[in-house]
Amino acid sequence: MEPANRLRNDELMLLPPLVEPDAVLHADEIRRYARQLAIPGIGSVGQRRLKRARVLCVGAGGLGSCALPYLAAAGVGTIGIVEFDTVDESNLQRQIIHGSSDVGRLKIDSAREALCEINPWVEVITHPHALDSSNAVAIFSEYDLAIDGADNFATRYALNDAAIGLRKPYVWGSVRHFEGQAAVFWPGTGPCLRCLYPQPPAQGGPCGGVLGAVCATIGAIQVTEAVKLLTGVGESLVGSLVVYDALTLTHRKFSLARDPACPGCAQVA
Ligand SMILES: [Zn+2]
Repeated sequence: MEPANRLRNDELMLLPPLVEPDAVLHADEIRRYARQLAIPGIGSVGQRRLKRARVLCVGAGGLGSCALPYLAAAGVGTIGIVEFDTVDESNLQRQIIHGSSDVGRLKIDSAREALCEINPWVEVITHPHALDSSNAVAIFSEYDLAIDGADNFATRYALNDAAIGLRKPYVWGSVRHFEGQAAVFWPGTGPCLRCLYPQPPAQGGPCGGVLGAVCATIGAIQVTEAVKLLTGVGESLVGSLVVYDALTLTHRKFSLARDPACPGCAQVA
């Protein structure tokens, strides 16, 4: 991995918007999104792109809990959630979309209720399954991009391989202890997860402990990158990996190249 500050201007990942704008914003929406409409680069056209956008969030756990409310609040028009698990008391320290009274309920139910309360203009589609190689393409094909909030590499690889088949981008994130990572994988445009991790890393299992606020940092980065891709603003994290260290409050950004021998995307044009 090379430090990303070696990138030249002609290597910046400036990408066109992923989504065409919706036809219209209603008066209620204009009031709701006033502070977002005032952002240079978003405006009415960007907001209408978000309204038409369809984003899939894989998991309503630590990362999904933090990403989903911001997707809904930002006005992403259609949000899909893949999640089969139920809320456990030990989740509440970081999975803030669920509350104490949700313990024992399906996470997908409490997440959907929370999103509908945040923004009734958003349509929430629930997929109450585990994402795996048998269903990942069919589910992801209904969306423009995905956010990976999975806690295991089997699910992560299933999403990655669906992205390869569909040539669609997704925003990857991981958290452990006081550290987090984020990247955008877009087969055909940049590297994929298997370019970075051909095999599951040794510590890649369900997290052995993480500070909830670190999930919030990485989840917020994931939503920010999703909004950038959907609206075409800024420089995308495609082709880069951000490593965040909360203990020193520093982050490093590495350039990620496609691996010509990648077991996943080597054949993708
Ligand atoms: Zn690859």
